[in-house]
Amino acid sequence: MRKFLPILFLISFSTIAGAQEMNKSEIDTIFGRGEPNPYGRFFTGQTYLKMLSAKDDVWNSSIGNVTFEPGARTNWHKHSGGQILLVLDGRGRYQERGGEIRTLHKGDVVRIAPDVEHWHGAAPDAWMTHISIETNLPHNASTWLEPVSEAEYK
Ligand code: MN
Repeated sequence: MRKFLPILFLISFSTIAGAQEMNKSEIDTIFGRGEPNPYGRFFTGQTYLKMLSAKDDVWNSSIGNVTFEPGARTNWHKHSGGQILLVLDGRGRYQERGGEIRTLHKGDVVRIAPDVEHWHGAAPDAWMTHISIETNLPHNASTWLEPVSEAEYK
């Protein structure tokens, strides 16, 4: 029996590693997933950020790719200069305060008007990755509010 244990361990380890690799590859984009989101304190669950074009005074915009693990989402928040989301892959959620939850799919475009409270994230059972464009910089401040509760999130 003893000589089989290492083999069993190797099989189970490679199965787990394979599953994790599959989860990653399901959501890969041409831009890559980036690093753990440095704004993660304003999110529930694990998210990643890959900056694509940082804010400056030439283009007046900030563009990044945000990737959400299943169940991950932003807090409620608003952008004083608005925001545009371009969904690259996976399945997600978007909701404005007082509105219905919208399911997001690959190829969807979400135009978020200035000062509209909202949240965005993955579906409970799927990854989601979107490009985020902060428009109208430098007059675009983000205000972070309370987390999206389990009761609100579906
Ligand atoms: Mn937003």
